[in-house]
Amino acid sequence: MRLVEAIFDSSPVGIVIVPNNDLSKAIINDSFINIIGYTREEYLSIGWNGLTHPNDQIHEEEAYALMQKRGDNHFNLEKRIIRKDGSVVWIGEYMGIIPSPKSTNGEFVRLLMIRNIENRKVLEKELDESARSRSAILQNLPGLAYRCLYDENWTMEFVSAGAKDLTGYDADELLGNKIISFNNVILKKYRKFLRDEWDKVVKAKGVMQAEYEITAKDGTIKWVYERGIPIYDHLGNVVALEGIITDITKSKKLEKQLQYFHDFNHKLNLPNRELLANKIQSKLDVKNTKGTLFLVNLKDTQQLYRTHGYQYVELLTASLVNKLKTLETSQRALYYAEEDIYVYYSKHRMSATEINDLFRDIKNVIGRTIFREQIRCNVGVNHLSRTSILAESCLIRARIASENLQDETKLFNLNIYDDAMDKMVQREENLKKELIDLSFSKGYGNLRLVFQPIIDFNTGKICSFEALARYKSNKYGPVGPLEFIPIVEKNRIIVAFGKKIIDLAIIFIKRLMAAGIKNIPVAVNISALQLLDSDFTDDLLLRIESAGIPASLLAIEVTESIFSTNYSQLNAALSELNDYGIVTAIDDFGTGFSSLSRIEKLNFDTIKMDRTFIEPLNRETLKYSTVPEVINICKKFEINSLAEGIETKEQYDLLKELGCQYGQGYYMSRPLEEEDAFHYVLENR
Ligand code: C2E
Ligand code: MG
Ligand code: MG
Repeated sequence: MRLVEAIFDSSPVGIVIVPNNDLSKAIINDSFINIIGYTREEYLSIGWNGLTHPNDQIHEEEAYALMQKRGDNHFNLEKRIIRKDGSVVWIGEYMGIIPSPKSTNGEFVRLLMIRNIENRKVLEKELDESARSRSAILQNLPGLAYRCLYDENWTMEFVSAGAKDLTGYDADELLGNKIISFNNVILKKYRKFLRDEWDKVVKAKGVMQAEYEITAKDGTIKWVYERGIPIYDHLGNVVALEGIITDITKSKKLEKQLQYFHDFNHKLNLPNRELLANKIQSKLDVKNTKGTLFLVNLKDTQQLYRTHGYQYVELLTASLVNKLKTLETSQRALYYAEEDIYVYYSKHRMSATEINDLFRDIKNVIGRTIFREQIRCNVGVNHLSRTSILAESCLIRARIASENLQDETKLFNLNIYDDAMDKMVQREENLKKELIDLSFSKGYGNLRLVFQPIIDFNTGKICSFEALARYKSNKYGPVGPLEFIPIVEKNRIIVAFGKKIIDLAIIFIKRLMAAGIKNIPVAVNISALQLLDSDFTDDLLLRIESAGIPASLLAIEVTESIFSTNYSQLNAALSELNDYGIVTAIDDFGTGFSSLSRIEKLNFDTIKMDRTFIEPLNRETLKYSTVPEVINICKKFEINSLAEGIETKEQYDLLKELGCQYGQGYYMSRPLEEEDAFHYVLENR
């Protein structure tokens, strides 16, 4: 009895024992009182039914009725009760009607046991809700959500309604491989790939992502994107795979189009430079340096636009490309590198014979067109090598080879990039770095000027200087202006670099002035790019002004060839300088494009006849020379004539007789270091 009492008192189950339906005799334990929240007396007056939540009363009645109907003596029910404080709790109820063991006249005991199941109910409700929202998401997902076995069929255990849209099969038809296994929906060529991917992911416990194609029920092929994860049991075995598969057919199509536009020159239907560079780069990245770039440079084609028009050139280009395409083989394909430049890329290293054969074949297929149009076809070949690191520099090397002409007169040229060219490129690269550094640092570094006297034929005395730039490279020693000026121009630093030269010339002018020499101008060579710079004139005037020298002491020379482009703009710049009293000369006259008839349209003071005209000049050749004619035209238009490159007494005398006004050349003086130039003036004025 004591044991029963102990259980009765300390059990978390609320217990009420009512003998013979006489509630006043009820035995109630503390747990019961705790669960219902009323005192014993209150409970006795309310009764069990009075506690039941109104909505659950019907359930209790039904359960009771069912018990009686079945002839049972107990029932179980989950219901809500309302506690004294008004709160609602879920309880699990056991109600039993147990015949009294000693009774002979139908006496019985009513046993009521309850336990608080509120927590469990809350949890259940939450679970219900999350299951509901999950299924709502899955069923409305644009795509197919699945749970499948990690087996050879990818046997589906769950398939969302989106299956219909994606595959054409109802979810039912895919479940358990009923009509078709998902493996068979996947396009054959992707099946192994997908299995490998999953195997990897299962091992790595990662996320599987893949793009592949499927065959829908109606036979259409679709691109899909799948993302899924393996589900493991507590032992780490895969029990299923779960994920979603969506339709990406549309974006794939777009992607393909974009890729095409990205990788192809659609006008010529040739793969382009990016594609080629990527191809080479991925090879170089794995240290594979087999392969040859055979670059065909048809650069002059551009010039035909002016004479023949756009359409003509487009058609011509297309026809040339089609002919070049016929020389493609399984080993080499043709790419479009840039305007008028095409590249055969051979996967293996081309032998000398192969190179010569291809060169000959090219001559055969496009020779007639090249000859008819007078386009030049320059081939540059670059073999990939251990020094190749960037695909882009391999292409540039092939191009450099194509531009390194030995014979300017030939229409077809072949050049192979070699060590000598490599050295040249290296040299230019290093000089470029030095010159850029110099241009953007203070001072003049290794830059200086030398000064070559210009003589007045009338007096035989010096009348001006030409300043010539000299540079001493840290790495290569003295470098001539014919080498470093083009590098400076090419790298767009001539404006900054040119200002240093002007300042150096001004320093010399000031030195002369300080010595009382105020009638010897110094001429500086100016590049077209400087003259085209909109700030050039203002900047020049500012420098002249702040140095406190007269504008007439600083002269400038521009080479004639610059007038072949931007003619009017350059000419306008010249006139402006003229207006400010700066003396201007056209340098290297006769080598550029101006005909004598254009002289009068150019705004300048002096013509400097190029030394290629003076060099062959002597008494015998005089009758074939154009020099006398140029001198006469200068007289007619009142332009100063100057002869460059006078090396002999004969030339000097002849030019003087012809009435040339000024002369410059080694015969009178070589270009002089500043110190020597300074003394030269003192002695020869
Ligand atoms: P340029 O302006 O026609 O300069 C004349 C060139 O002929 C100079 O070569 C000079 O040394 C050379 N020369 C002078 N007299 C004779 C002679 O009797 N015989 C021979 N064979 N040559 C003679 P340099 O100094 O090598 O300059 C070459 C070119 O570099 C210049 O031709 C000019 O176009 C350019 N240059 C020189 N300095 C500068 C500069 O400061 N700025 C720019 N933009 N270009 C410059
Ligand atoms: Mg000059
Ligand atoms: Mg010259």
